[in-house]
Amino acid sequence: MGRQPLWRRVNYLPQITYFKPAGVPLTQLQEIRLSVEEAEAIRLKDLEGLEQEECAKKMNISRSTFARELNSGRQKVADALINGRAIKIDGGNFEMALSRFRCINSHEWDVPFQVMINTPPQFCPTCNTPSIMPLQPPGPRWGRGGRGRRRG
Ligand SMILES: [Zn+2]
Repeated sequence: MGRQPLWRRVNYLPQITYFKPAGVPLTQLQEIRLSVEEAEAIRLKDLEGLEQEECAKKMNISRSTFARELNSGRQKVADALINGRAIKIDGGNFEMALSRFRCINSHEWDVPFQVMINTPPQFCPTCNTPSIMPLQPPGPRWGRGGRGRRRG
């Protein structure tokens, strides 16, 4: 046990997180849950048109894991489109590519994922105070963000 989960890196959080087919009563509606990573995989591969290798690197996962996320995401979207189901984008094990920090004097700045791993910030770049803290990802829907680590 005690094995660390591999955190997928996500550059973009969808602003719209619920899709519902028109004209289907709620009682007959089946909901599909698309994880943030699956949505990110589809975004990188199908929307931005990147190679799988490049997508996997961006998400900090192996190619085979990326392929799994992509396939499962595509299958869910296809199911929703063809069978008229609702899609809810939610949850998953992800880490934002940028972490936002704030100092005690209310300066805010973004720290790239790569920098966070190697040399986490110690001081505010504006006023040099060591009293800094990481902020949660922006947006009211995403306060709960990734599962697991932040909740302990
Ligand atoms: Zn400051």
